[in-house]
Amino acid sequence: MRITAEKLQSFTTDLFVAAGADRTDSTQTAEHLVLANLKGHDSHGVVMAPSYVENIKRGFLNPQGHIEIVKDAGGVLLIDGCAGFGQVVGREATAVGIERARENGIACVGLRNAHHLGRIGTYGEMCAEAGMVSVHFVNVVGHEPLVAPYNGAERRLQTNPFCAVAPRENAPPIVLDMATSFVAFGKVKVAYNAGNLIRDGVLVDHDGLPTNDPKVMFSQPGGAVQPFGLYKGYGLALMCELFGGALVGEWTMQPEHERSGTVINNMLMMVLNPDVFGGTERFQHEITAMVDYLHDTQPAKGADRVRIPGEPELESMAERTVEGIPIDSQTWSELLDAARAVGMSDSAIAKFSG
Ligand code: NAD
Repeated sequence: MRITAEKLQSFTTDLFVAAGADRTDSTQTAEHLVLANLKGHDSHGVVMAPSYVENIKRGFLNPQGHIEIVKDAGGVLLIDGCAGFGQVVGREATAVGIERARENGIACVGLRNAHHLGRIGTYGEMCAEAGMVSVHFVNVVGHEPLVAPYNGAERRLQTNPFCAVAPRENAPPIVLDMATSFVAFGKVKVAYNAGNLIRDGVLVDHDGLPTNDPKVMFSQPGGAVQPFGLYKGYGLALMCELFGGALVGEWTMQPEHERSGTVINNMLMMVLNPDVFGGTERFQHEITAMVDYLHDTQPAKGADRVRIPGEPELESMAERTVEGIPIDSQTWSELLDAARAVGMSDSAIAKFSG
């Protein structure tokens, strides 16, 4: 089925309100999830909402959680997300980073203990809207690992996202926003829910041999997701673990730590004001010329054109804003189950169905 962004957002907002969150935080979280769907990242869209509701129930997600500044050294801050909605505390921490980068030219913000931050590009886009460059190293802890290290047949890491964003004048920012696993794990779940196979290279079975069946991630003996780019992606995943996790979160995937089934993100975020380097004008000139140069590349045989990171998301958004967001039946039924579990009435649910 396809559902409009507005309807999906109202439903998801009401779901979080019914689960105990206030309306402002529920709206902000729902907006973030639906924007991820619009941008084509269904793995980080409303498919996550039932797990958030479950984590509220289990005491892993504090729906009233907001940031607390733990250490403040001006341009360097350590912030606790207090296990609040990542979509709320992530924005709060980013706003602090932008404000400090305006004052100091650069801000380095460590955000620890945020419940799932969702699509990291959102925070980079906030920085770009303020004219800032940003770089984000993120790790994921609190549940069993999913990703095998390079040459490994066992899971040892999470999908640790990395994001880097450059603002553009009068044009959307350049947004490189990616899992360091071959794909974000949610994409494996989306394929599993839809009964689809997954493309080559993404998964290995319990012997470390390639497989296309997402079932290996949901049955025993389990397989693993591969890092992207062989040992290079594995190396970047490790640096996310060390910078986001060890430096900021004081919590990595090493087995001394609890794996209770929650999803906590820790993020090292650097926000830079281009004015303090060669100046915004020069920077913007180079970006425009470089983007034009790349766009002018002769496409490879069979390819339509060369894109800049962030463009596939804009294309998806243009299509889905008009056509609606596709939701598979498994995801929709999980959302309805979550709504019933938090006491939404059949009539309240019915206004979103059909
Ligand atoms: P992806 O592989 O779809 O895209 C990664 C990047 O490549 C994007 O910046 C995209 O714009 C760019 N890209 C894609 N196709 C391109 C093309 N043809 N030309 C140029 N650039 C192109 O994304 P992913 O790795 O599956 O990650 C999806 C989302 O999952 C991200 O938003 C990420 O932040 C999120 N994530 C979050 C967590 C978490 O714990 N919160 C963990 C993992 C991933």
